[in-house]
Amino acid sequence: MNTIYKNYNPNLLILCFVLACYTAVVNAQETKKRLPIIDVHVHAMKANPNFASEMCPWFLKSMPGSGPNQDAPSFISTGCVAPLKPAKTDAEMQEAILRANRELNITMVVSGDADVIHKWHSAAPDRIIPSLGISNAEQMSVEAFRDSLSNGFYKVMGEVAPQYQGMSPSDMSLDEYFGVAEELGIPVGIHMGTGGNGMANITSPNYRASLGQPFLLEDMLARHPKLKIWVMHAGYPMADQMIALMGANAYVYVDLAGFIWSYPLEEIHAYLKRLVQAGFAKRILYGTDLMIWPGLLETSIGVIENANYLSEEQKRDILFNNAVRFFNLDAIMFE
Ligand SMILES: [Zn+2]
Repeated sequence: MNTIYKNYNPNLLILCFVLACYTAVVNAQETKKRLPIIDVHVHAMKANPNFASEMCPWFLKSMPGSGPNQDAPSFISTGCVAPLKPAKTDAEMQEAILRANRELNITMVVSGDADVIHKWHSAAPDRIIPSLGISNAEQMSVEAFRDSLSNGFYKVMGEVAPQYQGMSPSDMSLDEYFGVAEELGIPVGIHMGTGGNGMANITSPNYRASLGQPFLLEDMLARHPKLKIWVMHAGYPMADQMIALMGANAYVYVDLAGFIWSYPLEEIHAYLKRLVQAGFAKRILYGTDLMIWPGLLETSIGVIENANYLSEEQKRDILFNNAVRFFNLDAIMFE
């Protein structure tokens, strides 16, 4: 040991120290600059004390057995070691969103409360892509919808969720809205499939599981051949229909939002693996379905990063490249 230091040169030691510092700084910068991610499914909502509970990811791994004369099953469970904490105020949520934009290098397609979207967008205009959601004709006239899309603030239409109202996405009452999106080249996100446990009993009596069948999109797609849609929640759990629909309609994509943090992990991986195995790795978009729990971003990204059946290239496609292609973004803007 002594022989190493016996004849040391102090200048050399200083040089080593400087080099070590330089390497440490470079490494720190590299770890800071994570590869970009596009989250195509984020909800902006105002803080609400009635919807502010903690939440355990993958809580649907054990569906409670209950009956109509008992208390309704709770929508989310809190019985785990480290439940995710909700943001308690609008400011706290906005801070978490901006931190994720910066530190996790995430750009987000955001729908929901217009005030909240405007605030997030003015704080991070390059990282927030505003999306205009409409699920029935009572919400907004076709003219107002066209004006809103034409003024340039909204770049996307979604989340369109007729299923919760007991309506098919091909229902003619929505047709003119899809026509406007088609004409203006606006991509559309449509909720199809999952609603959690007991959706029809607990919060949405009009919700019908059968109205989440991906095949229900076919008539609408036939009427709008230039419309670009993505199926939110990937039509879970109807993989056969989803695969057949994507096969017949070459511009249809899916996102993985919601079910990747709520249903059992093995089930999620089996579903995602099936879509990839069927050849659709270039048509899968990453999405969180982020509502009030900022920790869901890392939880959900981890599901993709840990999927050992995906190649590194497929992971990058899902987390980023597919969304750049689908939304006509410029990859250089993310460097
Ligand atoms: Zn949804």
